[in-house]
Amino acid sequence: MAPPAKNIAILGSTGSIGKSTLEVIAASQGALRAVALSGHGSVALLESQAIRFRPSRIVATDRQAASSHDFSRLPRETQLLVGTEHISEIAALPEVDVVLSAIVGSAGLRGTWAALQAGKTVALANKESLVVGGPLVIELARRKGAQILPVDSEHSAVFQALRAGRRDEVRRVVLTASGGPFRNHTPQQLANVTVEEALAHPTWQMGPKITVDSATMMNKALEIIEARWLFDLAPEQITVVIHPQSIVHSMVEYRDGSVIAQLSRPDMKLPIQYALTWPDRCEGIAEKLAWSQALQLDFQPPDFERFPALALGLEVAKAGGSAGAVLNGANEAAVEAFLDHRIGFHQIVPACRDVLQSHPFSSDPTLDQLQSLDRWAREEISRWIHS
Ligand code: MG
Repeated sequence: MAPPAKNIAILGSTGSIGKSTLEVIAASQGALRAVALSGHGSVALLESQAIRFRPSRIVATDRQAASSHDFSRLPRETQLLVGTEHISEIAALPEVDVVLSAIVGSAGLRGTWAALQAGKTVALANKESLVVGGPLVIELARRKGAQILPVDSEHSAVFQALRAGRRDEVRRVVLTASGGPFRNHTPQQLANVTVEEALAHPTWQMGPKITVDSATMMNKALEIIEARWLFDLAPEQITVVIHPQSIVHSMVEYRDGSVIAQLSRPDMKLPIQYALTWPDRCEGIAEKLAWSQALQLDFQPPDFERFPALALGLEVAKAGGSAGAVLNGANEAAVEAFLDHRIGFHQIVPACRDVLQSHPFSSDPTLDQLQSLDRWAREEISRWIHS
């Protein structure tokens, strides 16, 4: 007899990760079931997902978008809830086994928090949960006996490679970075990058925020911070290497010099599936590597001068406390300003640095303090733009 289906709640089902998660669920032959979904502005998509997957609840977090949509095609068994406050509710439903936390940005922290508080296994795609609230989130998971399984491809790779040895045998973790579309740009070229150029990533298909973050390498900075908390690493144990093909998703180097890597084609469906089926591995729909064809893998050290976000990430990982919340809030606001043509591409990271340096650092902040610092950092970015 087949084991009972694992029930999944997807926070952010209409985004890039959410859509891939539903593809993984659809292909699981009943092993995985979507029992709750949430979406923000894309209410028509949320409704059609509900028609196809028949969850017991959906949450439309954008009240305005929800009120202007006709939900009359919704299946009878699906209850519609409107407003962000219901995110915590679906994350804690008794029938939910795994919460896939994929809401973009620091807004995702609330859902991760509610899921951990309810003792749920969290498949974490929202790296900001750890960037903003790292020590508090890890402590909550420990207290509730809740497991956090990384969905971020690099962290999924590290999580898998860590199974090759003992924790006290780890020398370092090597995070790979594609380097984004501008890895060979001169500073002059970087100053003239357009929104359209920044949104065209060479190897990964992702939402606009993370695509811009990949181009500035702020994504890797956030991933350094995420890895620091998730794997309890000293910042000195985290190395970044440029790997343009995005085949090696990250590596763990052990003290004897052995380096264990995880490889696959760049397709988020694989780390999503691994997190949902863990500790088992199941037949996957992600395209496999074809060993009958030549495969070239290149690695090169990153250029810290052209991509100052990396140093910022290491600094923030070292500082801990409130620094992650401020860097993340500032970056979200700066990326939004870039997408709205209010600042240049090359100004995103310097704006974040200035805001970070002027912030009232706290080494042991509460969740409320982190949330107000997040708002403060966004306001500081507006001031930075206008000054
Ligand atoms: Mg990643």
